[in-house]
Amino acid sequence: MIRNTVKKFAQQQIAPLVSTMDENSEMDKSIIQGLFQQGLMGIEVDTKYGGTGASFFSSILVIEELAKVDASVAVLCDVQNTVINTLMRKHGTEAQKATYLTQLASEKVGSFCLSETGAGSDSFALKTRADKKGDYYVINGSKMWITNAEYAGLFLVMANVDLNMGYKGITCFIVDRDTEGFHIGKAENKMGIRASSTCPLTLENVKIPEANVLGQVGQGYKYAIGSLNEGRVGIAAQMLGLAQGCFDYTIPYIKEREQFGKRLFDFQGLQHQVAHVATQLEAARLLTYNAARLVEAGRPFIKEASMAKYYASEVAGLTTSKCIEWMGGVGYTKDYPVEKFFRDAKIGTIYEGTSNIQLSTIAKRIDAEY
Ligand SMILES: Cc1cc2nc3c(=O)[nH]c(=O)nc-3n(C[C@H](O)[C@H](O)[C@H](O)COP(=O)(O)OP(=O)(O)OC[C@H]3O[C@@H](n4cnc5c(N)ncnc54)[C@H](O)[C@@H]3O)c2cc1C
Repeated sequence: MIRNTVKKFAQQQIAPLVSTMDENSEMDKSIIQGLFQQGLMGIEVDTKYGGTGASFFSSILVIEELAKVDASVAVLCDVQNTVINTLMRKHGTEAQKATYLTQLASEKVGSFCLSETGAGSDSFALKTRADKKGDYYVINGSKMWITNAEYAGLFLVMANVDLNMGYKGITCFIVDRDTEGFHIGKAENKMGIRASSTCPLTLENVKIPEANVLGQVGQGYKYAIGSLNEGRVGIAAQMLGLAQGCFDYTIPYIKEREQFGKRLFDFQGLQHQVAHVATQLEAARLLTYNAARLVEAGRPFIKEASMAKYYASEVAGLTTSKCIEWMGGVGYTKDYPVEKFFRDAKIGTIYEGTSNIQLSTIAKRIDAEY
């Protein structure tokens, strides 16, 4: 049901804008409004806060469906649902939920701010500081690569309350966009997901009341790991959808174009490649859905989420690369959407933990299991 609604929305309202948004590196505001109107920015948020009250699995299906048309829109929706809303739902006080979940479900985009110049894969090496002064904190530091920052109204900022405590000082703060001293830098000029804004942030003596600490002081590292573990299933869904969208576009083309007096699809050399990619896509789908099912059932899912994200990113890279080859010269031009899918796919191996980091996580779980 939700899948059909999203499919219609993606085809009617997103598809016509995709190429221009990619060219201009800009998300059309009508799409963000549309996502809110369709209830897609608060999928798991309780209806009492104005959310949709649906499941984690629904979020995964929505992200997959959006990514078939545009991976940038998919990641906007993904970060909001699988990271920001989840953190707020799990760790917010009743007062925080009443205020912020209501805003997040209806009008405010959220950003998750963990990475810094010197803290990427080693994210807990972050240097942004939060010094306690009476009943508020003063935050100083900077962040890198913050998705949605250009459009976001609310930022969940990880800062350390005592750098001597290492990662055990990391605390999550709710920061409003308009807070004095909070600056959003120029968006990165990226290879792919160009309509998704990715910006650096600087925080200069940003005063945050104690009431805006999310969860417990010093527990931010746990919250970050937890939300990224779930978020990885979202990225797997994004990669899966993107690959499927690219495949769905390409197959009809190779069934129509003729060379040597035959349809391209009639050459066995091509058929075998198509069958290979289709099998990998199916495997990525099963891994992704299985990880989502485990999350929803409250069962251990960390290894499976990392496997899904790692594998779906690989499959997205393979599928989009093959689709360009299958289409030949036209696949390499911007007159067709396939080269954009190819550019968009690469990010899957980088954000929310690089492929190497996923492999390390998988290996750690195997080590613990045997
Ligand atoms: C478009 C985009 C959007 C992003 N959005 C956000 C966001 O919203 N919020 C946020 O906080 N961050 C965000 N990030 C940051 C992202 O999570 C980091 O880029 C990522 O974690 C990798 O960190 P890094 O870029 O510093 O690479 P590095 O950590 O420098 O890694 C470089 C290479 O070294 C490898 N490597 C590093 N450590 C190890 C190791 N221990 N073992 C083996 N290999 C290793 C990596 O796998 C990688 O191949 C985003 C990044 C991008 C590009």
